[in-house]
Amino acid sequence: MSIHILYSNTFYLHRPLAGVYHPENPSRIDIIINTIKKIYLPQKMIIDNRINYDVGYLHYILKIHDKSYIEFVNSLCTAGDTYIDSDTYVSRNTCRTAEMAIITSIKSIEIALSQHEVLVFAVVRPPGHHVGRYGRAMDAPTQGFCIYNNVAATALYAIDKGYTPIIIMDIDVHHGNGTQEIFWYEPKVIHIDIHQYGIYPGTGSIDSIGGGEARGTKINLPLPPYSSDDDYLYIIKEIFIPIIELIKPRAIAISAGFDAYKGDGLSEMEVTHKFYSLYGALLRALSKRIGVGITAVLEGGYSIGLKEGIQSFILGFLSDFNKYEETLKNISPSKKTIEIVTKVKNILKPFILIN
Ligand SMILES: [Zn+2]
Repeated sequence: MSIHILYSNTFYLHRPLAGVYHPENPSRIDIIINTIKKIYLPQKMIIDNRINYDVGYLHYILKIHDKSYIEFVNSLCTAGDTYIDSDTYVSRNTCRTAEMAIITSIKSIEIALSQHEVLVFAVVRPPGHHVGRYGRAMDAPTQGFCIYNNVAATALYAIDKGYTPIIIMDIDVHHGNGTQEIFWYEPKVIHIDIHQYGIYPGTGSIDSIGGGEARGTKINLPLPPYSSDDDYLYIIKEIFIPIIELIKPRAIAISAGFDAYKGDGLSEMEVTHKFYSLYGALLRALSKRIGVGITAVLEGGYSIGLKEGIQSFILGFLSDFNKYEETLKNISPSKKTIEIVTKVKNILKPFILIN
């Protein structure tokens, strides 16, 4: 068992315009790394911030995004100190930083695919799950702080190496509309997304299930505000675990946002250490049982979620707590969550057989 934390000092170079506060800023990396250093266990954890700028991986950006979008982003970086939209800034070093985020994400899944019972956490920025093939995805109003889709790069790498099917589980409080759009017609990528409905980006309804041969492989769980640990855990129990047991994925990538943490700032969810630690423990158990490494790619999380959420998640993975089934028996989800899960199961019935 081991945990690898991958990051780069390059991630400090993507910066908001001088004097303008933005929640997605370089201090997020410091908060995370300081939190991880406090729980660092030398025999079990590796913190690697010496990731090479390996141009051999950059062609993945062209696999994820259209050339016209990449050229547009590059032109904004050359201009510097500007905005791609009202949410998403671009500084002179944004392109280099976003490229490094793609490289680091791919290196993370490379390690995860080569080992069992391992968590490889790519602490990258800018985040990626809102950006689709051409930038804004599924008619979202903006790109939501995202430049290139990092978790999509991990999935494409796994597909290239023959590790399919792959499950992407997105626990960021916002819907991963970019990731969903990119893999809308790709049946090898099962995308499960828990998010708060009624907030940005406004996508991710339960009847969005993918297109063509991929129908039924995109699974959306839009929860109401103030949903709790037990609502999240109910989804893990009723949807996530059964799908993993059924399809036996060859790779699992987590779009690891921590902004559903109670009080993190950009949502009204009330998720706490109970969910994140149990989720970490569960991922370790699943990783052991089906023999796949876990890749986590940082998405959102802006204050307490980056401290408490990440700490709980990593301690959960380290804990080797195997009594999660007992814990999952004693949860009290809301009526609304039970109703949503029932509806999702009914929609999925013709495609994926889960009881
Ligand atoms: Zn988010």
